[in-house]
Order: sequence, then C-alpha cells, then structure tokens
Amino acid sequence: MHRRTKIIATLGPATDDPAVMRDLINAGVDVVRINFSHGAADQHRKRVQMLREITEQLGREVGVLGDLQGPKIRIDQFVEGSIELDEGDTFVLDASLDPAKGTRERVGIAYKDLVKDVQTGDRLMLDDGRLVLQVGEVTGTEIRTHVVVGGVLSNNKGINRQGGGLSAVSISEKDRADIKLAAEVGVDYLAVSFVRSAADVKLARELARTAGCQAGIVSKIERAEAMDVIDDIIAASDAVMIARGDLGVEIGDAELPAAQKHLINKSRRMNRIVITATQMMESMINNSIPTRAEVFDVANAVLDGTDVVMLSGETAVGHYPVQVVESMSRICIEAEKQRTARQSQHRINEPFEFIDEAIAMATMYAANHLGVRAIAALTESGSTALWMSRISSGIPIYALTRHVQTRRKVTLYRGVYPAAFNTMGASHAHVNKEAVEVLLENGVVQDGDLVIITKGDLKGVGGGTNAMKIARVGGLIDPEEENA
Ligand code: PGA
Ligand code: MN
Repeated sequence: MHRRTKIIATLGPATDDPAVMRDLINAGVDVVRINFSHGAADQHRKRVQMLREITEQLGREVGVLGDLQGPKIRIDQFVEGSIELDEGDTFVLDASLDPAKGTRERVGIAYKDLVKDVQTGDRLMLDDGRLVLQVGEVTGTEIRTHVVVGGVLSNNKGINRQGGGLSAVSISEKDRADIKLAAEVGVDYLAVSFVRSAADVKLARELARTAGCQAGIVSKIERAEAMDVIDDIIAASDAVMIARGDLGVEIGDAELPAAQKHLINKSRRMNRIVITATQMMESMINNSIPTRAEVFDVANAVLDGTDVVMLSGETAVGHYPVQVVESMSRICIEAEKQRTARQSQHRINEPFEFIDEAIAMATMYAANHLGVRAIAALTESGSTALWMSRISSGIPIYALTRHVQTRRKVTLYRGVYPAAFNTMGASHAHVNKEAVEVLLENGVVQDGDLVIITKGDLKGVGGGTNAMKIARVGGLIDPEEENA
C-alpha cells in the first residue's frame, strides 16, 4: 500500500554516507531538508548533489527544502564554555559585554535590541525553555534578571520571550546569502524561520525570485504573534510548518496540540500544504524504536490531516536515520487506514473560483463515491493535484507532468505521486491510454478498474485543466481506431 502522508528527513552528518542516503530514499523519504542553521555552504552543495545523483540512479523524485536560520536570538559565549545557574540567582544579559567574556554573573547578547524589546516582569526562555529568567531592571545596555528555572547554560544558546514580541527582522543578512545558495543548488521549497507577518513571506519570495529561485515558500510558525495574523501568513505562503520547538517555548507547550490542529485545519481549508515538525520521533536519535507517545504523536498528526511529518535531529545526527524513516512510514500507513483519514466534508457547500478547481473538486467527489481506484491528473503547475489533495481520500492521485520542478513540488502533497509524462503533440485518445499505462506501471490499478483522468486542451498551459474523464482500464478507445 502507498503511504499518503509525506516524510521530510533533515540531512546532516548522519546521512552523509551515500549508502545511508540511498537507504533513506529507499525507505521512502519524499523531501530532504538542508538546514542552513548548521554547516557550511559547500557541505549543503555536496549533499544536494549527492541526493540528485542517487535519486537519478533510483529513478525517484525527491524534493529539497532549504531551511533559513532566521534571526535566532542568542546569548554570546562564556570564558569557560558554560556556567550553571541556580534558582534565585541574579544574572545580567549585557549588550555591551565582550562576546567572549561571559561569566556566572553576566553574558553578552548577539541581538543588541533585546534591551529595547523587554520590560520588567517579562520571562525569557533560554535554550528552548530549559532555563527561565525573569526580567527585573533594564538600564542602558543591561537586562538584570533573576533565575526562575536554573540549569547549565552554554555558549550561543537561543533566547525566546514568553508570549513573543521580540522585534528582530525575520530575514537576516545570513539568510540573504543563503537564499542565493538555495537558488544555486535548486531547492524546491524555501522555509522562512520566525515569520511575523505576510510581509515577511512576500519579502522572502521576492528575494528568492530575484536570485532566480522558483521554490515554494514555507512559513515556519514559531512566534506567538504569527498566530494573531495567521490567515494572512497562510494566504501568502505555499506551505506552513508547525515549528513546535520554538512555538512551544513562545506560546507554552500545553497550548501546542490545539495550535497544531488549528493550523492543519486552516492550511487545508486555504488550499495550502502543512508540515508537522520537531521532536516527532526524538527518542530515536538514540534508540532503535520509538516511544509509544511518539507513535501516537505521528499517528495523531496524520489523523489531524497533516500533509507532511518531519524528522530533524533524528536523521541529521541520530544513530538510526534509516530505521526512524521506516518506523514513521509504517505508523503513517496504519493511521491512514482509519476511516476518518479518508472521509471529507471539505468545501462541500462552498463556491469554486476557477475552472480547474471545479474539475478537481468534481473529480474527488466522483472518485470517492464511485469506487474509482486511481486518479491521473495531467498538470503543468501541479495546482489540480493540490486541490484534489485537500480532499481527504484513500484514492492515489498521480500528478502527470513534463516539468521536473512540478514533479518535485508535489512530493509534499498528501496522497499525490509524481510521474514524468509528455502530452505535447499527442491526441486525446493517445494521452488517455498513456495515462492509464502510468497507473498500471505503478501497480495501483488492474484491468477492469475505474480511473479518472483530468486534463486540459493539451496545449501545455498552466491552470488549463477543464475536463475529467471516467474510464475503465482496458476499456479505452484504441488511438489507432480513433484516427481511422
Ligand atoms: P528549527 O525549527 O529546527 O529550525 O528551530 C523548528 C522548530 O522550531 O520547531
Ligand atoms: Mn525553530
């Protein structure tokens, strides 16, 4: 059985062996993530090149997601590398301190404007919330705090403010350089960290396009204030990532499950892709099997309707990069067998805006009610397949396209599988026969099965889908006969 939910695996030292990369792809990774927060430009280049070589050999289409670091707001460094803070201690964040001279009393901050952004009474969460500081007096370049939750604090750890509201711009100088690198290596998706507004998303898109990068833009939802303007952010994005690590620090971990369900629902309703990320299989960094809680987390995300589940450290630096993909894959497949994962009330009473959208909706309605075995959607940009995939269903949707960019883009769409297909210059009867051939080759249909083919007037124009054909495998008109 084909898995519908897609898997992103983050590349890192643990996947740099070509044999591991090959096994990852064979285990079913749909998209790899290169994380610009770690590693040098050359390392990223090498990883993408290796991926493209291996997928070529395997005849698989795997997308690439470049993830920008964003303005990680961090402390500087300690003379000793790390310190330990106890509850009740006084500790100063000092914007004028030498970056290498942190002590048990004070440490520098890479983000100087923090002094302007915080007020007495604020809570600062350090190292993903492991340590909590309460802000006392703020004077000049110093933020005096007292320690609410102590622990070990080491160099360059991140700072979040509970409730959000830090003003750092979402796209840093480093991000601008990394966008050029993303263009150079040809990423299919570009993720923007700490998005605050639709304007951030539009800026990222502009910078990408200027650099010659046609990637889909993924907004990482990890700031509290992003939740207040979430409709605008989703509308400006191609996909949304629920970045549960930082988001949980900012809004509180107990608020995360509701936020996840809300974001998945909203994104699907607005015809956008949604990725559930961070700590999904965290314990498998060190263990060969997941915890029961992790099994439930992945399965519940699938039942919530996520398009994609993502692995971070589990594949990048974990001890079981291949096993974690295999585990995640089988959990998804089992969850997808639940009836609720296959039924849809999506947009049942809503008007449609576009002709190709109407064809996509009509196709899914017919397919879900008629016992159709598979759908072949001839597409230029992939938009027909995207609309189809917003409807929950158990029926595989094959995106047939001559564009490699489109094939890689649909790797994130739930229930959609890419296939190379050239319709230029062929007759309708010929195209129908070839489309069914693709479904047969993929082993999803056999003689006598019902299938649906959607297409346009075969002119190679994006958004041109205007027809659906319900056909029986083996029952199509022979192209030779049609011409006679
Ligand atoms: P990160 O984003 O791994 O780049 O921090 C994901 C998250 O915050 O959950
Ligand atoms: Mn993050």
